Amino acid sequence: MIFYGTNASRLKDGRLSNVTCPNCDNQTHMTYSVFGKYAYIYWIPFFPIGKENILECDSCKKTFKLKELPQQIQNKFELEKHTGVPIKHFAGFGVIAIIIAFVMYSSSQNKANNLKYINAPEIGDVYSIDGSEKGYYSTMRVKEVTSDSIYLIVNDYEVDKKSGINDIDVDKNYTNEEYHISKAGIIELYNNETIFEIDRD
Ligand SMILES: [Zn+2]
Repeated sequence: MIFYGTNASRLKDGRLSNVTCPNCDNQTHMTYSVFGKYAYIYWIPFFPIGKENILECDSCKKTFKLKELPQQIQNKFELEKHTGVPIKHFAGFGVIAIIIAFVMYSSSQNKANNLKYINAPEIGDVYSIDGSEKGYYSTMRVKEVTSDSIYLIVNDYEVDKKSGINDIDVDKNYTNEEYHISKAGIIELYNNETIFEIDRD
């Protein structure tokens, strides 16, 4: 469930002098507050959605939204120095940018590692591979590496989700016979994406 909604924070307080209150008719002061409204997701402000100006008569204490007041008071209010939208109301965009940058960085880092591992296999490397049927996945472990070939043990089990691969990558699942392949052959399996992930401790 995603929590989202709108909220407001007080950006500025101030005072207008010599205005005539439409409620009590006194020539008086009005105190005002400017609220910045923003949309949030999970309590993180994402983007500003306008401002709300609330004014209170010093004499009768009635509060008004700016647009409820006579044009003359609105004009006076507009002459006041206005405040901008605070950067924190965009905080969510910053968080997302950081997450995207991190995901892109780790995915490119991961690809670089895979390429390094497939070109220089080491004992214990675990290859995530396509299973015997479409939509199934399994693993192979490198058991031995010689100058031109490697020996692998294929996992006894398959899973139907890539995310479940770690669950079957345990010692007792590697009881199969060894599988022997040339180093060029293993690189080809990586290039055609039969091997789609390589883990090294
Ligand atoms: Zn008043």
